Amino acid sequence: MKNSTINDHKNKIILAIDHLALDAKKLALRIHAKPEISFAEFESAAALIAPLRAAGFTIEQPLGGLDTAFRATFDSGKPGPTIALLAEYDALPGLGHACGHNLIGTASVSAALALKSSFDDFSGRLLVIGTPAEEEGGGKIILANNGFFDDVDAVMMVHPRDKTMVNRGGLACVDATFKFFGKASHAASAPQKGISALDAVIHTFVGINALRQFFTDDVRVHGIITNGGSATNIVPAYAEAKFLMRAATVNGLELVREKAFAVAQGAAGMSGARLEIEQGLTYAERINNQTLAGSFQRNFEQLGIDISPSPVNGGIGSSDIGNVSQITAAIHPYIRIGDVYPHTPEFAEAAGSPAGLDGMVLAAKGLAMTVIDLCLDNTLLPAVRDEFSRWKLSTQIPLER
Ligand SMILES: [Zn+2]
Ligand SMILES: [Zn+2]
Repeated sequence: MKNSTINDHKNKIILAIDHLALDAKKLALRIHAKPEISFAEFESAAALIAPLRAAGFTIEQPLGGLDTAFRATFDSGKPGPTIALLAEYDALPGLGHACGHNLIGTASVSAALALKSSFDDFSGRLLVIGTPAEEEGGGKIILANNGFFDDVDAVMMVHPRDKTMVNRGGLACVDATFKFFGKASHAASAPQKGISALDAVIHTFVGINALRQFFTDDVRVHGIITNGGSATNIVPAYAEAKFLMRAATVNGLELVREKAFAVAQGAAGMSGARLEIEQGLTYAERINNQTLAGSFQRNFEQLGIDISPSPVNGGIGSSDIGNVSQITAAIHPYIRIGDVYPHTPEFAEAAGSPAGLDGMVLAAKGLAMTVIDLCLDNTLLPAVRDEFSRWKLSTQIPLER
């Protein structure tokens, strides 16, 4: 299709999103005012589903056995791509929407509503997939393992941040809870009869710190003590620490995990405690589809948004979009909402500020414009698919040793 026609559609979708911006901002603020943590996002999911249902999307909930996951589908009945816009909406314990997921869900829902009402040439299927528990629990991993991304051609979402970036990566990551079982005793009159589980936790921290010299630069290991005993005069019978381990790839992560688990086992041996390990789901590294990212970037530039370069070394976290990006073409760009860093009280404030809400509206526009490209630019979707197939093939070829 001619570029001028594609641009006409984009101008129309921009107006449509401006038209629903006030309602979208109210929706984002409503979710912001009642933060719900992983797997407890009942009201947030319901708030996002309501306008989609009213607009005629077919709603499925629960999804993949997750009560707070959902899928909203608009099937045009015409042959074309299946495109999924992802909605996150979980908050952080004690900090509220300090990762701004209230803006992510609302941006994807707004883009979908505008596309259904104002993009007459849409062909294919448009999905909004509500993916709970990004912060803890890996909702997208569970949905991915249940096949919900198998028939999707392209997956997109936009995350708020201190900078607008299109191609920022994500580390592979896994959490582990080390549970140490010792033996209680009077800490002064009969310490010799006790086994300190807390000592095992402390040895674990010291041991993991000693490992850092032997990790590659991409590796991050960080932990907290989630139980350190109950009274100073009792030898702690139970203590617990939770760690997150990250590396550039799932393969690299495996080595880190092995070393950290060996340290915890050694710490248990040093103190005489018994160790149980509870491991979470593995978040895979993010593979940004460069072709799709290119289209998104051009649309953000068309909207007059300044785009910062993505970090090459360091400065990245992890997200369960990584697992999705290994199943189909995916992008996870960022929109600036202020000079604030995620997982801080300041970021939570920005996620409900005028700058945050304006960023959400821009994100919705970028998503909707890229959907238009996928439907109308005849070369884009084949190129996106081709890039993904080539990447997939390359991962199946054993690396040279
Ligand atoms: Zn976060
Ligand atoms: Zn986040």
